[in-house]
Amino acid sequence: MHLIDLRSDTVTKPTQEMRQAMVQAKVGDDVYDEDPTVNHLQEMAAQMLGKEACLFVASGTMGNIVAILTHGGRGDEMILGSLSHTFLYEGGAAAGLAGIHSHTLSNRPDGTIPVEAVEEAIRADNVHFPRTRLICLENTHNRCGGTILTPEYCDAVGQLARSRGIAVHLDGARLFNAAIALGIEPLKLTRSVDSVMVCLSKGLGAPVGSLLCGSRKFILKAKRMRKIVGGGMRQVGIIAAAGVYSLEHNIDRLAEDHKNASRLAEGIDALHGLTCGAEGDTTQPVKTNLVYFKVDGAAVGDPSLDARVLSTRLRTRGVLANPLGSDPNQMRMVTHLDVTAQDIEEALLALKSSLKKT
Ligand SMILES: *Cc1c(COP(=O)(O)O)cnc(C)c1O
Repeated sequence: MHLIDLRSDTVTKPTQEMRQAMVQAKVGDDVYDEDPTVNHLQEMAAQMLGKEACLFVASGTMGNIVAILTHGGRGDEMILGSLSHTFLYEGGAAAGLAGIHSHTLSNRPDGTIPVEAVEEAIRADNVHFPRTRLICLENTHNRCGGTILTPEYCDAVGQLARSRGIAVHLDGARLFNAAIALGIEPLKLTRSVDSVMVCLSKGLGAPVGSLLCGSRKFILKAKRMRKIVGGGMRQVGIIAAAGVYSLEHNIDRLAEDHKNASRLAEGIDALHGLTCGAEGDTTQPVKTNLVYFKVDGAAVGDPSLDARVLSTRLRTRGVLANPLGSDPNQMRMVTHLDVTAQDIEEALLALKSSLKKT
């Protein structure tokens, strides 16, 4: 059976062309800075994101913890959203590895945290308090439904941080989705942050890898931290070649994923028993490639139907999607490189028939 995999944009498989680029990659020992493909990838990304330097890392989680380790130390504090990936899904690494205290503020449904709340949360210089060292933003915002932080918002947070001597790290796992949806250069979204992590292995379709960008000085220290967390990767140009390929070929086409996601959301909203919206908020239209929705079993005369049951029924119809979030009725579907417009129509038919008790 042809499976339509909407669990995540991490599930994409490298195409023949991408594999070809990997086979032909020139490699060297990257721990000695001698891998030409890695060096090329890092230079390319630094330029695209408007930073002096860049470091190739194994994953988004590694990029974020390396950034956190580089910006702060034991007993320091970072301010971040209560729905942020770094707070929810990175194994408590900030506390466990960096000894950094997380000061969470509620995310608004659009993925922002109010600038005034950030300002209020910054600690005064007093022996009783931890030192606020870092503010983390996320763009696009996963748990808020793939919402987009605007350049104006990022600039406002950056300005506040600079005025207080605090660094800003941007978890930009899906930053290119944000840039494409806004129709702007990605560096407009990174100009006010000190460091940014982007994933190659999500919508861009590479099998492995993320990039961490910042000043030359920041990246020099980050490289030491990457080594400490086990990220010195030798002839890693084999993998970096897929990253180069993905930056060259797979950015503009993200618009297609967004179009497919909008169509999916429209179809979901038209089905009785399903309502689009992350965290129960139905005010944010789907703008990028993440479609969150809620299942109302009672509305279709089947109170036992929740996200888990729906997911099981979809699987028997060849569609993969997972419950996601704290609400047992919430599900997420993600569009990506390996999902076509036709797949979306089929997924909607599968959803429709899954809502009927058989
Ligand atoms: C996926 C993701 C990460 C982590 O990336 P991995 O490569 O899975 O470790 C970080 N932040 C956000 C917002 C993500 O969606």
